[in-house]
Amino acid sequence: MLQLFETLPQTNIPLLAPYLTGKEVEYLQECLQSGWITTSGKFIKLFEEKLQNYTLSPYVVVVVSGTAALHLALKAVGVTEKSIVLLPNSSFVATANAIHYCNAEPIFIDIHPKTWQIDERLLEKFLQKHCYTKEGKTFYKTNHKPISALIVVHNLGNIGNMQAIIEICQNYSIPLVEDAAEALGSFYKGKHAGTFGEVGILSFNGNKIITTGGGGAVLTKNSEIAQKIRHWANQAKTHPEEYYHDTIGYNYRLSNPLAAIGVAQMESLEFFLQKKKTINTFYHENLSEIADFQDILHETTPNYWLSTALFRQSNSLIQKLKKAGIQTRRLWYPLNRLPMHKNSVYIQEEDYSFEVYQQAISLPSSVSLTETELHKIVQTLLSK
Ligand SMILES: *Cc1c(COP(=O)(O)O)cnc(C)c1O
Repeated sequence: MLQLFETLPQTNIPLLAPYLTGKEVEYLQECLQSGWITTSGKFIKLFEEKLQNYTLSPYVVVVVSGTAALHLALKAVGVTEKSIVLLPNSSFVATANAIHYCNAEPIFIDIHPKTWQIDERLLEKFLQKHCYTKEGKTFYKTNHKPISALIVVHNLGNIGNMQAIIEICQNYSIPLVEDAAEALGSFYKGKHAGTFGEVGILSFNGNKIITTGGGGAVLTKNSEIAQKIRHWANQAKTHPEEYYHDTIGYNYRLSNPLAAIGVAQMESLEFFLQKKKTINTFYHENLSEIADFQDILHETTPNYWLSTALFRQSNSLIQKLKKAGIQTRRLWYPLNRLPMHKNSVYIQEEDYSFEVYQQAISLPSSVSLTETELHKIVQTLLSK
């Protein structure tokens, strides 16, 4: 027989596999049988209600992806082609892409070496030294563009010093947008991630703590923002029957079957969180000799979405794990080093985002991991 594929070492322990053993099939079947498979139907409202009850965000709008949610969030706080948006240098590229969709200019801020979240000390220094305030707005001295938003990313479901960030945003009148794509189930001082700023976003992409296959949500306490976002996500259609649109809109609505999966996933969230914590504790207890994990502030209760640690020999360890059929991943390539940002401003002193990138390995963190698999991963890492 013709062999089409060379035999690669099989990945038998994936990094993050979705866990779909609740009522996903039942709810999906209901969508298919009733014919409600498009962007209206009862599961959309139900999913929004579940998210609202869990996060205690006054308004929740589900959309087609976390990236779409970020795009609309930035637009809603007034980001335009004349704006600057600040963000951490270590994030998934979607955070920066949303800024580009608004034709705004990103300025990258380095991360804290221990928490891997935006370094609020560098952020404040930048605002003090390189910006000025006029008529209740903050502008960048170099080109006089307004700083229209700060995006805080809750990197790996961890949350940094939000109290300091909120104070900085208040002092400089900068709208706060939270990229909580990875942080469903994470809390800071008992408050859910994504509910501190003007707008927060979640993602339900395949590898996130809950998944709808693809999807996202906007969280906000501002009813006007919620209305605008719902409107823009539906092609800015003003009338249920007439095709009248009062501005440029987007086709960003989530479909009913995907929302149905989301409802079922929300029913399992507590279980997912427990399991993620158990996995993280196991890695901590068994790898402390060779790995440095993220610092967690005592105000923070993270979701431990993806256990990640710094290892001195990250390259050889990744290869060793791969040979053993264990899938791992590096952390985000620093955003300032991507080709589309070669002329962008990056605020740093020690370039920690690069250092963390070079040393970090994300370890398998699927809810379905067994104890035997966890032992295999740890033994492989510790083997000579
Ligand atoms: C996943 C992710 C996104 C984008 O979400 P999608 O649903 O994949 O569009 C944005 N920011 C961060 C930090 C993410 O991890």
